[in-house]
Amino acid sequence: MDLLKQRILEVGVVVSDQVLKLDAILNHQVDPMLIMEMGKEFARLFADELPEKVLTVESSGIPIALAVAYELKVPMVFARRKKTLTMDQDTYSERVPSFTKGIVTDIMVSSHLLKKDERILLIDDFIANGDAARGLIRIIERAEAELVGVGIVVEKSFQAGGSSIRERGIRLESLAKIASLANGRIEFE
Ligand code: 5GP
Repeated sequence: MDLLKQRILEVGVVVSDQVLKLDAILNHQVDPMLIMEMGKEFARLFADELPEKVLTVESSGIPIALAVAYELKVPMVFARRKKTLTMDQDTYSERVPSFTKGIVTDIMVSSHLLKKDERILLIDDFIANGDAARGLIRIIERAEAELVGVGIVVEKSFQAGGSSIRERGIRLESLAKIASLANGRIEFE
């Protein structure tokens, strides 16, 4: 997606060789026009997989997952990172290392929100080592739902997450692939 790459070059801040900050469009402030365009693109890419639900993890996955779900006209579910008073007791919970926080957190989804054999499209903002995606995939497996694909806004292809998911035979599509963040420069693949 050329528009996304252009915006990344305009507003992206290289925090280190490993981390890109996109707080101006995706991770803190959200650009609704860009998000909706990305939603259309993911919906186009995965329409043939007939997803019945979009799954992501809070918080940065939510805007993009909502845009995709809106385009596909299906519900969106986000895994929570904290249990709330209103949340059901019956949850699928997985322990996931957080790339940006440097800690291990639990992510959870109420079990009644994922049905057996339901076709699930997984959406997230970034993929680095793939821990968040793998945690969500384990939740989908425990629900005996069917993962139909993974859509990622920014794949840092110099990290192993994207290839480790594809090696499992899972279809992963990313809208921008970053080959390097070395020397403070953003280089696309
Ligand atoms: P992973 O679990 O694949 O190692 O990391 C993915 C998660 O960490 C994403 O959900 C995203 O929120 C966060 N993340 C990973 N790399 C980056 C990055 O370079 N920039 C930002 N803003 N978030 C990242």
